[in-house]
Amino acid sequence: WNECLSIAAVLIGTYTSYKYYKLCKTQDIPQPKGGVEELIGNTPLVKIKSLTKAIGVNVYAKLELCNPAGSAKDRVALNIIKTAEERGELVRGEPGWVFEGTSGSTGISIAVVCNALGYRTHISLPDDTSLEKLALLESLGATVNKVKPASIVDPNQYVNAAKKACDDLNKEGNGVRAVFADQFENEANWKVHYQTTGPEIAHQTNGNIDAFIAGCGTGGTISGVAKFLKEKAKVPCHVVLADPQGSGFYNRVNYGVMYDYVEKEGTRRRHQVDTIVEGIGLNRITQNFHMGEEFIDESIRVNDNQAIRMAKYLSVNDGLFVGSSTAINAVAAVKVAKRLSPGANIVIIACDSGSRHLSKFWKEAKEINHDISLEEIMNI
Ligand code: PMP
Repeated sequence: WNECLSIAAVLIGTYTSYKYYKLCKTQDIPQPKGGVEELIGNTPLVKIKSLTKAIGVNVYAKLELCNPAGSAKDRVALNIIKTAEERGELVRGEPGWVFEGTSGSTGISIAVVCNALGYRTHISLPDDTSLEKLALLESLGATVNKVKPASIVDPNQYVNAAKKACDDLNKEGNGVRAVFADQFENEANWKVHYQTTGPEIAHQTNGNIDAFIAGCGTGGTISGVAKFLKEKAKVPCHVVLADPQGSGFYNRVNYGVMYDYVEKEGTRRRHQVDTIVEGIGLNRITQNFHMGEEFIDESIRVNDNQAIRMAKYLSVNDGLFVGSSTAINAVAAVKVAKRLSPGANIVIIACDSGSRHLSKFWKEAKEINHDISLEEIMNI
């Protein structure tokens, strides 16, 4: 009787192990990663079913919001820090600080990557930055330096303040290394999109990408991805810069003119883009935009009312809860689709989630009628 019990136990054990083995084999489960920094990139591409059905062209979103710190800026933060390490400006295991002037996602990404790699973060930002972003940076342990909003030519403007704080620490010469991330001018920005985001999109679409759409803040995303797709994709890819109201890229790309912001004696000129959309739109040319300009075919302007409504539309029809720049890209996708053949593939960047925009953009978007139609959005 005891022997029978032992045999039964062995049989049950073997069967259970076999079932477990089969379960693991049949599911595509990634292997464990060695640290949070290794979770950056390889983001999913998802079909936006509602738009695809309505316009007869496949619209896919590259979900950069799935990065560990919640945006495409994770890639940039990691590459800026790795590049600094390659140059010996930061050394793993030794004290080091990364400085940046930013009111957006870049600071959050830098803080997360620095924490993962053993560095400290110092962020300068305008004192009218939203409370949720401030709280997030402080919760991540970043040192936050709030400055008065000012123009880019003012030495106290937040980007200039960040550079100065970095220079000051380096001058102290106490063995602590300090690096200025400089996302607008640092070429580690566009390069990481050329090396990772672009190839991922090409792979995920099997090279069949007819149009690519992104907004432009620093220009790193659109420049890097556009350069890669123009050089390597199987079919010619039409690259579109989706621009919010008030931004200068629309005129720059379509008509070759841009109001470059320079403050001359006594003349205050507009430097901030007047839109509810955050993270994209600018009135000056930066090195990261410049690197990809020749690969951008056209710019489409999208107004705030369309963006707000599109965000609600994607949320209720697809379960895609996105930030304002993603909504802008989706509106541009519908406009571009009219010129493409049925069944063509469009990829848009979904840079971040709606949860980063609750107090401003989504405060308005949540009030939009649940049944808002695509036609209504496009006719505004
Ligand atoms: N969307 C959001 C929400 C952003 O924060 C940014 C970056 N500022 C962008 C889009 C644009 O990315 P890039 O800086 O690469 O042009």
